[in-house]
Amino acid sequence: MKPALKMGMIALVGICLVFYQYHLSFGIRVDQIPALKFDLNAGQPPDGPDGIPVNSDTYGCSIAHQKLTEEMIRYAVDAVRKSNGLGPEIGVQLTEEILNQLNKLTIGNRGKDRLLSQTPAQTTINSVVAAADKFADENPLYVITPTYRRPEQVPELTRMAHTLMLVKNVHWLVIEDAHTPTQQVTDLLQRTGLKYEHLVAPMPEQYKKKNGAKPRGVSNRNRGLQWIRANATSGVFYFADDDNTYDIKLFDEIRTTRKVSMWPVGLCTKFGLSTPIVKNGKFIGFYDGWMAGRKFPVDMAGFAVSVKFLLERPKASMPFRPGYEEDGFLKSLAPFNPSEIELLADNCSQVLAWHTQTKKNEPSAALDKEKYASTNLIKLKQQIV
Ligand code: UDP
Ligand code: MN
Repeated sequence: MKPALKMGMIALVGICLVFYQYHLSFGIRVDQIPALKFDLNAGQPPDGPDGIPVNSDTYGCSIAHQKLTEEMIRYAVDAVRKSNGLGPEIGVQLTEEILNQLNKLTIGNRGKDRLLSQTPAQTTINSVVAAADKFADENPLYVITPTYRRPEQVPELTRMAHTLMLVKNVHWLVIEDAHTPTQQVTDLLQRTGLKYEHLVAPMPEQYKKKNGAKPRGVSNRNRGLQWIRANATSGVFYFADDDNTYDIKLFDEIRTTRKVSMWPVGLCTKFGLSTPIVKNGKFIGFYDGWMAGRKFPVDMAGFAVSVKFLLERPKASMPFRPGYEEDGFLKSLAPFNPSEIELLADNCSQVLAWHTQTKKNEPSAALDKEKYASTNLIKLKQQIV
């Protein structure tokens, strides 16, 4: 066998191994891999610093997807390596070899007729891509975001919208703790081009009047659950507060959720971190600065649930109990136990969600409308609280 052909064969076996291992490690089928997109038929040679294509147009796929593909290959190779007790240098060699072979295939097909140039490997990869796209289309990611009118509302939602605009097939449920929707929020949502619902769910008066900690965002989240029960049949949902910070990588991980998935959240409690504890790839407990007798001592930003799993539990909801919202909701998903948690973010070894908090600002002083009549200030003032 010619050395080049031999190398090609090795690379193909490698790719199959990678896909198979990815399938094993997540318990999903290859056609369920959501973000895999690699059009090998189009394009020009790679011009990135390490031979990784950088131009989305020439490759007929987005930069985000391209990077994710490489990352997935690295991840899968690493998993195979670790499970076989091999050293890191083997993993680096194998990853580079697979990436080289993929790039060679791409260069080899430059300028050729697209249909005639299909090799079995390309056809397989293209059908995987098509199946993955179909999977994402049929399985929306519902992001439930409670929000309320305050000076920081529009800037928070602007940042969050820009994150979600980088994610495929997201359906954003923005639910205001208010009696009527805020026009500025409606305007923002329309401009994003995202699929969204703009709903309202005020906090019940009895909790509003209470001194001390309030069940913030609970009414809104339960409204989100109600919307999902009435409108959704598949996919995954995630409670994502408007003031947190999300790595876009998180959303593709969330899509694989079959029941309930979890991952670490940074900047939480006195430990600075809230996360499942993982040992030898297995869940062994929770790390959180505030255990408080909770069965699920986790942060709101640290878990996602499959829509089907929720629909099978018609009574599941979030309690109006400050500090126990996550625990109460997860307990209401019974039968469900911590041992069933799907561990994401590379076995909970990466922080992809941050419980950030924005400094609160006082509402601005009233504008002298007579003094500033017919100036830009009139219009500007309508945009801030
Ligand atoms: N929130 C709300 N009504 C309130 C206070 C908060 O809808 O009266 C929302 C808020 O926009 C956020 C979530 O509930 O998405 C959690 O609130 P906050 O960020 O204040 O809580 P923390 O992160 O400090 O625990
Ligand atoms: Mn917050």
